[in-house]
Amino acid sequence: MAEGNRTAIVTGGSRGIGREVALRLAALGYDIAIVYVGDENEAAETVAECRKAGVKAAAYVCNVASFEETKETVSQITEDFGSNIAALVNNAGITRDGLIAMMSEENWDSVISVNLKGAFNMIRHTARIFIRNKGGRIVNISSVSGLMGNAGQINYSASKAGIVGLTKSTARELAAKGVTCNAVAPGFIRTDMTKNITEDNSELLRTIPLGRMGEASDVADAVVFLLSSPYITGEVLRVDGGIAM
Ligand code: NAP
Repeated sequence: MAEGNRTAIVTGGSRGIGREVALRLAALGYDIAIVYVGDENEAAETVAECRKAGVKAAAYVCNVASFEETKETVSQITEDFGSNIAALVNNAGITRDGLIAMMSEENWDSVISVNLKGAFNMIRHTARIFIRNKGGRIVNISSVSGLMGNAGQINYSASKAGIVGLTKSTARELAAKGVTCNAVAPGFIRTDMTKNITEDNSELLRTIPLGRMGEASDVADAVVFLLSSPYITGEVLRVDGGIAM
């Protein structure tokens, strides 16, 4: 790996799971570049929190669905932080749920573009940096929806199943360059994305063997583990309280 301070890029790092991952990595001494799309206040808060750990941190507005914007953003990050990008966490994601018989083309396209193409775009523009550095770690956030399917989420589960294929192919392609690529598949995690789901719903609880929703910190634990594991690649680690076992 290249010398100098290590930088981690976390997409969707302004809120929820991404924020938790950014804070954990900052505490481990990584400089942090977060990518977000619109929530400036939340992004500024994450950056301020990361800086408290004594590391460099900055936020970049970038729609991960855009090939050009992600290219420019990665280039800006390397200009600002140097080329020792050690980790990429593809966490940005959205839901636009609906039944297949009613789903609009727009809701299909937007979810696939952000969740799946977004991860492709970021890997596409960082791969050469990792190869040049002779190492790097990529973690992509999938979902149990991508492993099991979920009624009302064909767009989302297709995007998250796509993440599994993208992860394994990237892992195979970049292994010889010292780059690992893994995925984490969360179940129901308490964030803005699941704010309409409550644990009062006993139907939901019955589907979770461990009997509770997960916290962003549960997912961050898995991300940090995979980022620190040199001999694990192409793995999909479920963090779901046992839902998809
Ligand atoms: P969240 O709280 O809704 O946060 C989403 C993050 O993604 C925000 O930082 C948001 O930025 C960013 N984002 C959204 N669209 C973007 C785009 N086009 N370009 C760049 N950034 C974008 O979500 P979360 O619950 O933390 O989920 C994080 C990841 O975990 C997602 O991939 C999600 O699918 C996955 N996941 C979540 C759960 C769960 O139960 N929560 C379960 C399984 C998988 P802004 O703040 O600017 O909007």
